[in-house]
Amino acid sequence: MVSIDKSKPVAVTGASGYIASWIVQILLEQGFTVHATVRDPNKESAVGHLKKTAEGAKGSLRLFSADLLKEGNFDEALAGCELVIHTASPFVIKGFKDSYEALVRPAVEGTANVLNACNRHESVRRVVLTSSVASVYGDAIESTDVPGGVFTESHWNETSSLTHQPYSYSKVMAERKAWEMCKAQSRWDLVTINPALVMGPSLTTQTQSTSIDVLRDLGSGVQKTGVPHLEFGVVDVRDVANAHILAGFNPHAQGRFIVNAGTSSLLQMAQILRQKFPKYPLPKTELPKWLVKLVAPFVAGVSREFISKNVGYSISFDNTRSKKILGLSYRDLNVTLWEHFDQMIKDGLLKSR
Ligand code: NAP
Repeated sequence: MVSIDKSKPVAVTGASGYIASWIVQILLEQGFTVHATVRDPNKESAVGHLKKTAEGAKGSLRLFSADLLKEGNFDEALAGCELVIHTASPFVIKGFKDSYEALVRPAVEGTANVLNACNRHESVRRVVLTSSVASVYGDAIESTDVPGGVFTESHWNETSSLTHQPYSYSKVMAERKAWEMCKAQSRWDLVTINPALVMGPSLTTQTQSTSIDVLRDLGSGVQKTGVPHLEFGVVDVRDVANAHILAGFNPHAQGRFIVNAGTSSLLQMAQILRQKFPKYPLPKTELPKWLVKLVAPFVAGVSREFISKNVGYSISFDNTRSKKILGLSYRDLNVTLWEHFDQMIKDGLLKSR
C-alpha cells in the first residue's frame, strides 16, 4: 500500500495537453505544487493557460522542458516528487507517414525514459500512467468474443500493429513496457488509467488531440451526408483528470482502471448535439457499411480492414473498478458533449451560427 505525502510536488508530463491541462488545473486548485513538463516552456500559446490558472490558485506551478525522445530529460522535473502522472504521448490517428516514429517510438521510448527517471529518484513512490481502452481492445469486432460483449481490465489488445491501428498499438506497447519496468523494481508502484474517447471542454486550443477532431468533424459539416455506424466509449475530460488524481492518492488503487461513462455512436452524438445546436450541419443518418468500405480509403484515409472490423459492431466497457475503488462518479454524456461543443464555438474552432 502506497501513501503519498501531499506536501510533496506532483510531476505531470505533457502538461499542456488536453487531458493534462485539467489534471494540472485541479491539482493547483487543491493546493499542490505541480512540476509540469512541456516540450517548450517558452511557447506562450501552449503554456499560457497553465500560468493563468496558477495565478489565482492555492497551489504553485513550475514548468520544466522535457522531450519524450531525449533520455534524461525528465530528471529535473521529478526531483522531490513522490507521485508522477505520465500523460505525454501523441494522440493522432492520421497525417503521418511513419507510424513507428510518429506514435510508437515516443509512446514506448518516452515511457521508458520517464520510468528510468523514476528509477533514479529515490523520492518516487507511485506512477499513474495515462493508458487507454486502446490498450484493452484492438477492433470493435473483438467484443463478439468477450463475455456479454463487455470489455474489462482483464482484456489486452493483441491485434493492433504498426500497420493496423498504430495508435492503439502505441498505447498497448507503452503500457506493457510500463508494467515490465514496474515489476523490475520495488520502490514505486504503477496504476494505469485507461480512458475511452475523451470529450468535454478543453482548456487549450493548441492541442493536436484526436478528441477535438471527432467533434469538429461532426459540427463542421464535413459529415453532413452521413456517418458510419461506429461506436465509442465516451468519458468527460474532467472525470478523466479526476481519475488520475484519485488513483494517485488512493493507497488501495492498484492495476488498471477503465474510465468510461457510456457508449455512443457517432450518430447518437450528433443527435445529442442537435438538441442544443440545431443550426449546425450535423449528420442525420448512418451510411451503409458497403458504401463506407468503398469510399473510406479515399475520403477518410481509413483502411478497408478498419471498416470491416469496426463499423457496425457494438462495444461496451465495465467501469465498476473506477467507481468502487477510486470512488469516481461520471458526468452525463449529454452535458459533456454540449459543453465541449460550446467551448469550441466560443474559442473559434467551430463557426458561430
Ligand atoms: P494531447 O492534447 O495531444 O496531449 C498529448 C501530449 O503529449 C501533449 O502535451 C504533447 O506535448 C505531448 N507529447 C507528444 N509528443 C511528445 C514528445 N515527443 N515529447 C514530449 N511530449 C510530447 O492529447 P490528449 O488527448 O490530452 O492525450 C493525452 C494522453 O491521453 C495520451 O497518452 C493519450 O494517448 C491518452 N488518451 C487520450 C484519449 C482521448 O480521447 N483524448 C483517450 C485515451 C487515452 P506538446 O504540447 O509539446 O505537443
